[in-house]
Amino acid sequence: MIGRKRLVVETAWCKGCGICAAFCPKQVLEIQHEKVSIKAPEACISCGQCELRCPDYAIYLVNIEE
Ligand code: SF4
Ligand code: SF4
Repeated sequence: MIGRKRLVVETAWCKGCGICAAFCPKQVLEIQHEKVSIKAPEACISCGQCELRCPDYAIYLVNIEE
């Protein structure tokens, strides 16, 4: 079931607070130049913690059309 969802970052809304990266259990995310960066997309387990914790709705999961 891996790969059913992918991460989307709305860079304009991201303030680089790092909350998403701190809550990610798989170290998928990091902050670069005051914006979140998806450094290890293959490690993402689509748990939704980043989406849940971001105060600015700047990162979320979308279903991948098969
Ligand atoms: S969905 Fe989960 S594993 Fe994937 S980046 Fe967000 S917090 Fe990390
Ligand atoms: S929690 Fe939201 S605003 Fe903060 S770094 Fe992550 S995506 Fe950006």
